[in-house]
Amino acid sequence: MTKTMNSTMTDAVVGRVSNLSNDRNLIVRPRRLRRSDGIRAMVRETVVRPDDLIYPLFVVPQGRPRVEIGSMPGVFQSRVQEAVDDARRAYDAGIRAVLLFGLPEFKDAIGSSSWDPTGPVQSAIEGIKKHVPDMTVMADVCLCEYTDHGHCGVIVDRNGTKDVDNDQTLPLLMKQAVSFAAAGADFVAPSDMMDGRVAAIRRALDERSMNDVGIMAYSAKFASGFYGPFREAAESTPQFGDRRTYQMDPANRREALRETAIDVEEGADIVMVKPALSYLDIIRETRDSFPLPLAAYNVSGEYSMVKAAAERGWIDGPRVMNEILTSIKRAGADLIITYHALEFAENYKG
Ligand SMILES: [Zn+2]
Repeated sequence: MTKTMNSTMTDAVVGRVSNLSNDRNLIVRPRRLRRSDGIRAMVRETVVRPDDLIYPLFVVPQGRPRVEIGSMPGVFQSRVQEAVDDARRAYDAGIRAVLLFGLPEFKDAIGSSSWDPTGPVQSAIEGIKKHVPDMTVMADVCLCEYTDHGHCGVIVDRNGTKDVDNDQTLPLLMKQAVSFAAAGADFVAPSDMMDGRVAAIRRALDERSMNDVGIMAYSAKFASGFYGPFREAAESTPQFGDRRTYQMDPANRREALRETAIDVEEGADIVMVKPALSYLDIIRETRDSFPLPLAAYNVSGEYSMVKAAAERGWIDGPRVMNEILTSIKRAGADLIITYHALEFAENYKG
């Protein structure tokens, strides 16, 4: 090893004692710390617990049956009562937060069903708060599940090109967030990636004395191929184009920090990196740069790959699940939004 400014620190890290470093007979033996389950547990640096996890739930209108998502085994589109039952089961397993997504009765150009006080998400918030009162309820704020075009905002025509208009979208997100808060949500979680939406939602909540409702901002949300299965679950596939004019380019690291800094400035209580697994470097850098709690979204494609490979017997599913969740926490996430949450929690051995 070349001598550098850090050589003293490096010596300390590898356990080298300087006056013995030339003794070729000395072998430093890190394996002593791996000899038994007990020793390994004692020196384990990262432990994932059920209360680190946020469990996503998809809620459909009453008239629809409960359906398992084909590409996401173990994940369901559920009616309100079933979502409440899922939340109860998750709470009993040690999970302390759910994140709700809604599939509405009808869709239109502006996603107006999303602020219906009797909508699936509003009803599920009320039901969970009533029957599982200690569960923290978070509600995803975005328009794509509620618009007939499947985009996250209002579509305008600019010289023959369709685009999502940022500033026309903000008031709609505010309405939706206020509606979820009025139903009893503890946190609203804007996932749209419009500029200025955290400040707009914060203002809308505060004007209505909803000061206690927090904002978990999808701060660095990348335009990712890993969202594929989610679109089946949330029925939110864009009918034309893609989301690259508002979600981030996967190649950009500095921009992720800039987006997060803006959300912090605008009043976010929790920031987020999404997806998680291909963005562990972003999670680490965000953790090192901001003091706020950091969430990471272990997204649908990451989940489906594990399930599909395990189904074929190619990997040990539970073991890979544990390794993935540990890696996300080790990278610096305080909270992990994951479809594995219930399976992890029910098999957790404190
Ligand atoms: Zn969206």
